[in-house]
Amino acid sequence: MTAPAPKPWILGIAPYIPGRATSEDGRKVAKLSSNENPFGTPEAARAAYRDAATQLERYPDAAAVDLRAALAAHYGVEADRLIYGTGSDEVLHLAAGTFAGPGDEIIHVRYGFAVYEIATRRVGATPVVVADRDYATDVDAILAAVTERTKVVFVANPNNPTGTYSARDDIARLHAGLPRSVLLVLDQAYTEYLEPEDDDGGLELARTQPNVLVTRTFSKIFGLASERVGWGYASAEIINAMHRIRAPFAFSVGAQAAAIAALGDADFVAHSRSHNRMWRGWFAEQVDALPGLRAVPSKANFVLVLFEGAVTAEVAYKALMAAGYATRWLPGQGLPHGLRITIGTEAEMRDVVAVLRTEVERAA
Ligand code: PMP
Repeated sequence: MTAPAPKPWILGIAPYIPGRATSEDGRKVAKLSSNENPFGTPEAARAAYRDAATQLERYPDAAAVDLRAALAAHYGVEADRLIYGTGSDEVLHLAAGTFAGPGDEIIHVRYGFAVYEIATRRVGATPVVVADRDYATDVDAILAAVTERTKVVFVANPNNPTGTYSARDDIARLHAGLPRSVLLVLDQAYTEYLEPEDDDGGLELARTQPNVLVTRTFSKIFGLASERVGWGYASAEIINAMHRIRAPFAFSVGAQAAAIAALGDADFVAHSRSHNRMWRGWFAEQVDALPGLRAVPSKANFVLVLFEGAVTAEVAYKALMAAGYATRWLPGQGLPHGLRITIGTEAEMRDVVAVLRTEVERAA
């Protein structure tokens, strides 16, 4: 008897490796490896979660009516043009699954979010990986990679793991250069960390264009990563098609209530953003002052540190882990010389710099 055969493209998928919260020997460490909010969850969201999660035997609202209404009011988007999923991860999967299949191509950048390749291969499509421009998204390289088989382009802005940002003009040029038959997925997981003047125009494109999907998440600045609340905004036609394949009950009653409450806590968001701006800037300066280390300019809540001298990223990763800090070393993503470090509390950032400085001095 033969066993069920996985589709050949499924076995070509390298499994996603989540950020660590423990060291190799099981010690709990400070987690600077998954770009979560160091301030936790807004108190109002915790309370709403507790109050809502009372009837655990009942299914949640499959249509997420209240959450969609809250999103519509907050962002000025139409409630009936929203898709949602178990984290924006799922929304990315829905985009690939709705618009691509075997024989089709999906483009993403070389140093891009790992889920793009998984979502592409999962549906039997072919990932087309384009080069960066000094770690930043290269619009011309993406446009040059488009063929008649291209169905989707994934672009994160700011990008993960580089933290780099594509300005409004670049995104407009990218969209203008794509055939209307190609879906441009603008993944804005970190958009709330941008300054207001840095609006990349994504929501406006999704509002007015037939081929743009913007994705967002409650996992980052809103401090709700455990609850897996992601959403997307696009034309009615795109959303209508995507709804056909989503899981009927994307997120729990508690998750929906917590997300609505988090959306309303403007102070928490503003405080998270200003802390992040300040300590990201400080951290990048400190890193750049260490010989052999370089911080890639970031507009997100993390910094990609490049190790180009005597200290390797692997050595720094291990030293930080030994000191109680989990960071993200990325050899599997073509960055054996890179560590992605989430901006944590002031004490954490000072300590991380001290550990890096010790390693540089040791290697000198
Ligand atoms: N997009 C990007 C660029 C990300 O970095 C992440 C989180 N690592 C996600 C999407 C997915 O986030 P979530 O599924 O928690 O919404």
